[in-house]
Amino acid sequence: RAKEMGGRRVEVFAAHMHADVVRRLELAADLRRALQEKQFAVEYQPVVDLATSRVTAVEALVRWWRGSAFVPPEQFLGPAEDTGLIVPLSEWILKEACREVAGWRESSWDIGLSLNLSARQITAPRFVETVSEALAESGLPASALTLEVIEEMLVEDAEDTVAKLSELRALGVRLAIDDFGTGYASLAFLRQLPVDMIKIDPSFVSGLGGDETLTLLTRTIVRLGHDLGLIVVAEGIERPEQLELLREMGCTRGQGYLVARPMPARGVDHLMHTTLQNTA
Ligand code: C2E
Ligand code: MG
Ligand code: MG
Ligand code: MG
Repeated sequence: RAKEMGGRRVEVFAAHMHADVVRRLELAADLRRALQEKQFAVEYQPVVDLATSRVTAVEALVRWWRGSAFVPPEQFLGPAEDTGLIVPLSEWILKEACREVAGWRESSWDIGLSLNLSARQITAPRFVETVSEALAESGLPASALTLEVIEEMLVEDAEDTVAKLSELRALGVRLAIDDFGTGYASLAFLRQLPVDMIKIDPSFVSGLGGDETLTLLTRTIVRLGHDLGLIVVAEGIERPEQLELLREMGCTRGQGYLVARPMPARGVDHLMHTTLQNTA
């Protein structure tokens, strides 16, 4: 009897596993098709200089409309990474974003591009060449491109990754550590890395004002970043008091719904026109 029930439990478990495997396979097939049928889009979220409110850069964020349903990046990036589809997808995002930002710069708008990298993309063959090609084809200067990685990509068995990123940095490309403070890059380690910028994770910024520990930690990260000569960007700014505190702490740049939401290229066109008009 007990054995029977145990067997049944295994069956139920197997059925769940089966459904999960099927879902993943379907997602993988859909991703492949989406890539062929160009169902992906790039949105751009402005990053501003906190002292002047000037837009210094836009961060490219991939978007997928699976039919009429929006799929958040966090749901499909893992499977894209597992299947290797992240490599052609990332190449498309890179080229598309470089081309669009180079276009905005041609209108005399001095902005940079921030791009999220995936672990597999960096270790894929020809990664460095692909980035160089994207710059050459678009005319975007290397110094206008910032590549964002998370701490995990730089710490464990990351010699190949660090070597490739260093190669790109030697060409003038900037490097940023995204979601800073959530990983386990030690402060001493940070000094040895070829990094130009840290982006403070929203989990710190969200506590600004309300939570004393998070406020203290944010202040410490800002000071640390500056002491190391890094540009410090605060992410996930949603409320005015967060913005005020970050300004008071001397944080260099900021990003968040309060400042601007991610928007399609047309939205950035519009933002550019109003910005250029106001400064003319
Ligand atoms: P991330 O690079 O840390 O990007 C910031 C995320 O926070 C974006 O989510 C953005 O829409 C969201 N965000 C911005 N301001 C606020 C705010 O004020 N409040 C809140 N709650 N959220 C805010 P998104 O677009 O869903 O992207 C999630 C993550 O997926 C990114 O985190 C990044 O790790 C990854 N990702 C997005 N696009 C790409 C891409 O093109 N390639 C790669 N490899 N990863 C990407
Ligand atoms: Mg990012
Ligand atoms: Mg982040
Ligand atoms: Mg993130």
